[in-house]
Amino acid sequence: MKRDKKLLNYRHITYIIFAALLAALFFIGAIEGRGRGSASQSLFAMDTYMEVTAYGADSEAAVEAAVAEIRRIDALLSTGSAVSEVAALNRRKTGALSEDTAYLLQRSLELAEDTDGAFDITVYPLVKAWGFAGGGFRVPSDAELSQLLQSVDSSALAYEEGSAWLELPESVEIDFGGIAKGYTSERVSRLMKEYGIQSAILNLGGNVQAVGAKTDKSAWRVAIQNPDKEKPYLGILSVKDQAVITSGGYERYFEEGGIVYHHIIDPHTGKPAQKGLCSVTVVSGDGTYADGLSTALYVLGREKAVEYWRMHKADFDFVFLDEGGMLWVSEGIEADFSSEFAYETIR
Ligand code: ADP
Ligand code: MG
Repeated sequence: MKRDKKLLNYRHITYIIFAALLAALFFIGAIEGRGRGSASQSLFAMDTYMEVTAYGADSEAAVEAAVAEIRRIDALLSTGSAVSEVAALNRRKTGALSEDTAYLLQRSLELAEDTDGAFDITVYPLVKAWGFAGGGFRVPSDAELSQLLQSVDSSALAYEEGSAWLELPESVEIDFGGIAKGYTSERVSRLMKEYGIQSAILNLGGNVQAVGAKTDKSAWRVAIQNPDKEKPYLGILSVKDQAVITSGGYERYFEEGGIVYHHIIDPHTGKPAQKGLCSVTVVSGDGTYADGLSTALYVLGREKAVEYWRMHKADFDFVFLDEGGMLWVSEGIEADFSSEFAYETIR
């Protein structure tokens, strides 16, 4: 009897120690979890769905700040809002630029020069004429297009760098739609770092920015959409601290008389770019560049795009899908790209 009682006591103590150990483990876990917490928010901005996810101690505050930053840039650049800085410039034809807009203007002018005008922010009157801004899809006549083309030339913009003063000729209107999301991802990425975030992923309407690596230090895996949504992804890219930005004619388009008209306009013809590419993905540490370039390379077509890449290999890599269904991948990301489809590596 006495022995039994003792045994019971011993068992009790074991239980208590076990419970205490569990509680301690739980407590340590909770602290660890707080240190490595995560936060995520979805929002609709710049005409698209966006998602921001961050990991780390300050993730909640970082995501909050990221969303505010996205909304701030959207309000600044939106051509659709009468009160945005860009809308005011288009209306008044003159004004001082904010820091963001001045930076974007300079990057846009550089890119226009670098790509022989394939990327051109003065394409906006054409974007409107086709109904890709303001609504009302339509096919403008050739006469209307040649009339509008006269005001498409960003090298004619008068920009005073010192005072950040811009003057637009009467018929000229600008739009940063081809570069704004990449710029936003660059800004938000910097913001995340300021919050001490070493791991975050931003998806701005299919334009992805990886901040650092995943929490286990492995690379982020970013899928590239197949224009044919019934089919598997074009491929998966493994990236750290890079933007993966895609331009595709399949993203915004309308059909008339059996012909598809999409939203990437060739500034030389005034019509939707048709140089044989369906999808252009640019991978770069510079999000602004990646976005502007994905639009420009789509306009240039594969041969000229490859030519351009050969002169800027250190700055970016690409994945192209052409109309024949061929995939082309630049050598710099060969090891980071996997696909169910056959592809050719460009060197
Ligand atoms: P998305 O906005 O779908 O991610 P893009 O980055 O390619 O795609 O940008 C397309 C947008 O850029 C168009 O909706 C239009 O506002 C603008 N745009 C169209 N053609 C050009 C061009 N050649 N150069 C600069 N901007 C353009
Ligand atoms: Mg773009």
